[in-house]
Parts: sequence; C-alpha cells; structure tokens
Amino acid sequence: MKNIAVIGAGTMGNGIVHVFAQNGFNVAMIDLSEKAIEKGLATISKNLDRMVSKGNIKEADKVNTISNIKTFTSIKNGIENADLVIEAATENTEIKLSIFKELDAICKPDTILASNTSSISITKIASVTKRSEKIIGMHFMNPVPVMKLVEIIRGYATSDEVTFSIMELAKRLNKTPVEVNDYPGFVANRILMPMINESIYTLYEGVAGVAEIDHVMKLGMAHPMGPLQLADFIGLDVCLSILEVMYKGFGNPKYAPCPLLVNMVTAGRLGVKSGEGFYSYTHGNKELVVSNSFC
Ligand code: NAD
Repeated sequence: MKNIAVIGAGTMGNGIVHVFAQNGFNVAMIDLSEKAIEKGLATISKNLDRMVSKGNIKEADKVNTISNIKTFTSIKNGIENADLVIEAATENTEIKLSIFKELDAICKPDTILASNTSSISITKIASVTKRSEKIIGMHFMNPVPVMKLVEIIRGYATSDEVTFSIMELAKRLNKTPVEVNDYPGFVANRILMPMINESIYTLYEGVAGVAEIDHVMKLGMAHPMGPLQLADFIGLDVCLSILEVMYKGFGNPKYAPCPLLVNMVTAGRLGVKSGEGFYSYTHGNKELVVSNSFC
C-alpha cells in the first residue's frame, strides 16, 4: 500500500493524514470544507514543528511529510489511485453510509475501505457496499500522532486477508493494533463513554463541580486528564453520538446520554473545537467556565 486517502480533515482526520505522510505514504486529505482543510494543514504543521523543536524529527522530515500531502474538497477527486481510504468524517450514520456508497462506486475494486468511527457498526457500513469483505474499522486514538493504539474492528464479513493487511499496516505506522469484534462502541468507547457520561451526571446532580470531578479522577485513579476535560478534548458532539449509538444498539438505559450533555451539544458547546465545553479554551489555555449554567 502506498496511496492513502483520508475523508475528513477534522480532529482525527488531520492526525491520521499526519502519521501516514510522516511514514512516507502519499496521502490525499479530503474534506467538504475548505476551512477544515486549512485548519487541518495548520495543525499538522504545528505538530511537526513541536516534534522538530523537541529533536524527535529533523526539519527535512517536516518538509518531506508536508510534501506527501495533497488536499481536495470533493470525494470525486483524490481517491482514484487509493489503495486504502480511511473515512474520518463526522460521527453520523447517514453521513457515513452516503460516503461509503460513493466510495464503493468510485474506488478501484481492490481498494480497502476503512472507517475511523468510534461506535457505528462496521457491518452496517459494509451493507451499503458491494465489497463487504474489504470494509474494516481502523479506530485511531486522539491525538493520533501520539497515541499508540489502533483498534481494528472486523465487521461480520471482513476477510482474514484484509484484517491481516490492516494489522500489518498499523505496525508500519509504529502503532499497536488490537483486533476486536463489531458491537456498539467496540471496546474502547464501550468502557470509556459510560465513565464520561457518569462524570457528567455527577456534575448534573450537583455532587461536585467540574474541577473537583476531574481532580478526583486524575489524582485518585492516576488518569492523565479528568473525564470532563477528556470529553472536551474528544468533542461533546462525538461523545453524544457514541452514547446514542450504544443506547440504541444495546437497548439498555445505562447508556442513555445525560440531559446536560444533550443540552450542551444543542447549545453548540462542543469542547475544545468550539472554544468552550466544560472548560473554556478561548485564551489558549484550559480555564474553568465562570458561568454557573451546568446544573
Ligand atoms: P470533527 O468534527 O473534528 O471532523 C469531521 C470532519 O468531517 C469535518 O471537518 C467535516 O467538514 C468533515 N466531513 C463531514 N462530512 C463530510 C463528507 N461527506 N466528506 C468529507 N468530509 C466531511 O470530527 P472528529 O472528532 O475528527 O471525528 C471524526 C471521526 O473519528 C468520527 O467518526 C469520530 O467518532 C471518530 N473518532 C473521534 C475521536 C475524537 O477524539 N474526536 C477519537 C477516535 C475516533
């Protein structure tokens, strides 16, 4: 595999583009939004600068990485030669199904189509294509250039051959792949999201404030960041979508999203990407939101 296309240049898409380009692949970064592409390229450049200043890579590596990336604002361009397409668009079933239908029609017959979805069924995505054996989940963790894990999700019909080649590919990116089966939330989010949701309920019910909840989990459980900060980092809209998929998929009320999370997403408070979630990021640093509108 040499030619990779990534659909979506947001939080995850630009990170996926970064690691493939840094490892010598030709990468097409595709997003409907010109602004998202500009922001994605700026993030990649900033992250590479940080690696250069830490002495982890040389300036020439940065230049080579950037030169491996081409950008496009339509799926119709940039994927004709792709050996692998990784979809990292918005976590919404309808959007993903429509993207995969289009990819299936345009891509070469042997192109593997992967999704970075956090929770949506790979089997369902495969069902709208005529190549279900070549559809697989490649779930990178945030931030992609830093995090080692890639959860590899086998849909009901994903072939052994495709699973093997994607596991090997993840190793070429210096990542550690872990193979899991296709059930809502897979492994990572099935365990993480109930914890985040419960931390939001803890705030909603007035048991403790944002800083207190995060301190308890950081200092008490040795987590690198508290669950509310992590939710901001992931994106509150993404957290809500994942919980909705698990709630619907299992039919179990334990996954029902906290009403406070629903309200915050409805109000456009999505976390780091919108400038405010449980914390405010408008001054570059994480600050407590002063208004008392959570409960
Ligand atoms: P995001 O909102 O930051 O970015 C999504 C991007 O997709 C946007 O730039 C949007 O313009 C683009 N997009 C939407 N529809 C498109 C289309 N039809 N064609 C091309 N581009 C399109 O979202 P994100 O956080 O990067 O999440 C992307 C995927 O990765 C989701 O499936 C999410 O569940 C998953 N994921 C997210 C995280 C996380 O921490 N945020 C972690 C692992 C996996």
